[in-house]
Amino acid sequence: MQTPIEPGIFLPSLELWLDSRRVKPEGFISHAHSDHLASHHHVLATAETIALAAQRMKIKQAMPLSYGEPLERDDYTLTLYPAGHCLGAAQVAIDVHASGERIVYTGDLHLGHDLFGRPATPLACDTLIIDATFGHPAYVFPARASVIDDVCAWVRETLRNGEVPVVLAYSLGKGQEALHILLEAGFNVQVHESTYAMTAVYLQMGAKFPGRLQRWRGKREEGTVVLMPPHVRNRRETFALEPFRTLLLSGWAIDPSCKYRMRVDEALPLSDHCDWIQLNEYVERAQPQRIFTMFGPQHFSAHLRDKGMDAWPLEAHQAALF
Ligand SMILES: [Zn+2]
Repeated sequence: MQTPIEPGIFLPSLELWLDSRRVKPEGFISHAHSDHLASHHHVLATAETIALAAQRMKIKQAMPLSYGEPLERDDYTLTLYPAGHCLGAAQVAIDVHASGERIVYTGDLHLGHDLFGRPATPLACDTLIIDATFGHPAYVFPARASVIDDVCAWVRETLRNGEVPVVLAYSLGKGQEALHILLEAGFNVQVHESTYAMTAVYLQMGAKFPGRLQRWRGKREEGTVVLMPPHVRNRRETFALEPFRTLLLSGWAIDPSCKYRMRVDEALPLSDHCDWIQLNEYVERAQPQRIFTMFGPQHFSAHLRDKGMDAWPLEAHQAALF
């Protein structure tokens, strides 16, 4: 089969694109992180993903799909399931009519509950295409409750020292998780505008936060925590007038060099991806006959092959399967 060199996944026999980065006549979008988006002529996604993606690109035409409600096509049936990664994130199961094969593409995945309490669970399938961002045994995340305790302890200590706690978390997904954690712990939080815009969509879609959403307008109120995305530039200039400390929330915090590479004062491993344990759990429960891994180290597919499975990494620009 010819392999077009394009980012995304293409199922040629079904003429179906999954998370293509280039504009297609029709494309499925697993979630609204910008490395999964393109302004397709017709978008298939959850209503939440469509609403969040509309903040970042022009949506021409879209069909909102609900979790668990099958979309019937001539050649296949497509059904979405929660992916636990950010609002609206979906795994997709594709039942191919001709062969009876079930293909599952996880998109970015984290097993567990999202802010709405929707559980992401492994899906039984014949062919599994799985996000293996943290596919190495070094990446085993501590229990979420202990990371939350560490985040809150860091914020308290920073405030006690008379410094401004600046929590750095991606504007979609991690940002809302961080906001929820900080509000629940009783902190006042001022939110950068990009995180604020995404949080407003969460609220429109019915998400509940245990406190008030306040926008950061470049001036900090006494005693508050500032929440912003890691890439926001010039933050040292922004805070030039007062002492501040930065805390990055990322799965990469497992790596001891993370805080130096990311130029932050502290980093804690709060992740919206599966760790090594969850990845192995997924494969064990899904029982696929063949596996393609996406992103992350190639260690995970090699580990699965050692266990006798037919598992291979998808190269960064290897789009077409089968
Ligand atoms: Zn993502």
